[in-house]
Amino acid sequence: MKHELPKLAYSYDALEPYMDKETMELHHGKHHQAYTNKMNAILEKYPELTEIPEELMAKLDSLSMDEKDKKDFINHGGGYINHKLFFNILGPQKEVDEKLLEEIKENFGSVEEMKKQMSDAAATHFGSGWAWLVRNKDNKLEVYPTSNQDSPLLKGDTPIICIDVWEHAYYLKYQNRRPEYIENLWNIIKLV
Ligand code: MN
Repeated sequence: MKHELPKLAYSYDALEPYMDKETMELHHGKHHQAYTNKMNAILEKYPELTEIPEELMAKLDSLSMDEKDKKDFINHGGGYINHKLFFNILGPQKEVDEKLLEEIKENFGSVEEMKKQMSDAAATHFGSGWAWLVRNKDNKLEVYPTSNQDSPLLKGDTPIICIDVWEHAYYLKYQNRRPEYIENLWNIIKLV
């Protein structure tokens, strides 16, 4: 089952000034494309796996894949899945999800508190990875970081909002100023 690089609903320069065109060209056009290609190369060996990558990730333990391919799928399939969500929750215009906002207020006390917890998780995570707002198995919202391209789907959680803290996501524009990148990102995360 061959998967295409997901198309963006906006142009590479639409997220300026918070996210620059050059970063978007590299991040979507090169990095996301590379994760997609490498994931396809793994899945080519398993033509029986016709589910979407998100479903495969959620039941990876039960799949009959060799262990090396499972590890590679966590990295490259994770890269495909995580970036698909990331680019999908970004946008030049807010499309606020009122139901999600209510739930965030119930779980965290306020939207600002959720953003603070997520920003802290993103800013303090050591090395490459992601910060997540997820719906966990008990149907509660939760914030935590993961390393590398590990997806929350691996532990049965459903990702809702994510912040990419790999240097490729911000270094061209923000260099080592990761907290400034994170703060600016909330302007283009359209759901809240
Ligand atoms: Mn990235």
